[in-house]
Amino acid sequence: MTTIHDNLQSVHQRIASACAASRRKVSEVTLLAVSKTFGPDAVREASQCKQLAFGENYIQEAVEKIALLSELPLQWHCIGPIQTNKSRLVATHFDWAHTIDRLKLAQRLSEQRPSHLKPLQVCIQVNIDGSATKAGVAPDEVLPLARELMTLSGITLRGLMTIPEPAPGLAAQKAVHLRTRALFDELRAAGLPLDTLSMGMTADLEAAIAAGSTMVRVGTAIFGKRATAKAR
Ligand SMILES: *Cc1c(COP(=O)(O)O)cnc(C)c1O
Repeated sequence: MTTIHDNLQSVHQRIASACAASRRKVSEVTLLAVSKTFGPDAVREASQCKQLAFGENYIQEAVEKIALLSELPLQWHCIGPIQTNKSRLVATHFDWAHTIDRLKLAQRLSEQRPSHLKPLQVCIQVNIDGSATKAGVAPDEVLPLARELMTLSGITLRGLMTIPEPAPGLAAQKAVHLRTRALFDELRAAGLPLDTLSMGMTADLEAAIAAGSTMVRVGTAIFGKRATAKAR
């Protein structure tokens, strides 16, 4: 009990300090606990500390966990890549999807979202630092995609999500996050009603909050180090 409890407390403390440093309200930043590779017991433990929003990367693993924990009032966020043939699982089991990177995927989620559920809340994943290997939409393709997403039923576009390459130190991290923030401000100025900037992880949440993040996705600092090279 104590470890996850204590870890959550120190993450909340980090968020509070970062908010204070940039004169933001703590209530502007949501903590998403990234529970990938950890079992249902870890999630249950976090939920007993009032953590109710969880992020998962691997869809099959997540769907099993979600089923095992269905008695709890949890909110599930898909933060991993979504292969087209997995879209129905995402549309059926998740509350949010942060990794929309193509219109085709959004269209499928829109069609597959069960009508008795609230619309799936979505973010466009932006490849903000142009890394060749990374998923995400190029910055100049975000506005046209966002406009298309606004026309779809069953999904609600909330904002942008990024996973920048690790950068050394607060200033370098913040510089990258500020580019996402600038793009977010542009989209809002163009009339898109966005309210979510999903950026910042264990290593860079302070920089992300300084740049305007509204949702930090934290795994390691809450649940500990993940086993590497887990077969799936
Ligand atoms: C794993 C993961 C995180 C959490 O990373 P930590 O460094 O463990 O906090 C956040 N976002 C995404 C997309 C991830 O895949």
